[in-house]
Amino acid sequence: MADPQLFRSPAEWAERCAAARDAGDRIALVPTMGFLHEGHLSLMREARRRADADAAARGNGSRGLALATIFVNPSQFGPGEDLARYPRDLEGDLRKCAAAGIDAVLAPDDPSQVFGMGHQTWITVDEVAKGLDGASRPGHFRGVATVVAKLFHLSRPHVAFFGEKDFQQLAVIRALVGDLDFGIEVVGMPIVREADGLAMSSRNAYLSPGDRRRALSLSRALSGAAESARRGERDAAALRARARAVIEEAPARVDYVEIVEPRTLRPVERAEPGSVMLVAAFVGTTRLIDNARLP
Ligand code: AMP
Repeated sequence: MADPQLFRSPAEWAERCAAARDAGDRIALVPTMGFLHEGHLSLMREARRRADADAAARGNGSRGLALATIFVNPSQFGPGEDLARYPRDLEGDLRKCAAAGIDAVLAPDDPSQVFGMGHQTWITVDEVAKGLDGASRPGHFRGVATVVAKLFHLSRPHVAFFGEKDFQQLAVIRALVGDLDFGIEVVGMPIVREADGLAMSSRNAYLSPGDRRRALSLSRALSGAAESARRGERDAAALRARARAVIEEAPARVDYVEIVEPRTLRPVERAEPGSVMLVAAFVGTTRLIDNARLP
């Protein structure tokens, strides 16, 4: 696999992407914060496949371009969060991007290249960004929506890929893209898990061996809830209480356990097929999130 072309300068990246788009190429984008794992790579492989399929369908010598961005966006971290110690490995990431078929990577070497001095324009998404992580991490989705809008403008994709692991983020981005007429197809991809069920996350790198065992309580709480729902339990309060108990027993500190309607993210009192349970918990000092659709 050829190494992806690495861009450090957002301006040069934007020029390259605009030229490709003007030439009729089909662009698929995967925004990430790097320290890539199999979850990210599943998005990248799908971006590769889609870009090629769309280019082939278009004909006329159109080429498929699979792009990824690696940027630890300071504006989506709150004070006291893990911005400074967020794990990074650009060299390893580029090798993984190459293996996943990514053509080019934007990895700005300094945040000021993206958020320049005097940056003062922010996008706030309303309803879907309010509860859950929006409540626990004030300003987080404002930072996410703004950086994703900027990456979309810089990259000019036809289609962009996001993981359902960050279920609320996906809803926020769908709202952003629809409400502001970006004209970009947003594709949500299933959660990739370790063999024992732990949802893959760059933040799993923070976990000590003991934490790693305790972290399993999130996915266990979710599969327990799914099993209860399958057996006919519909009462959201009962399902939530049981899931909370599984996590607390680990022990880990629950931030929230919620069951929501998947489009609006409004909490439900009765779990319907397709309702989504979302959990967030601190395992040691590491905050993890996970979610699952209830049967
Ligand atoms: P991040 O680097 O954490 O900002 O994640 C970049 C993208 O990868 C986001 O769209 C995430 O939802 C997605 N992602 C992260 N972890 C997973 C996973 N375990 N499975 C699927 N997608 C994931």
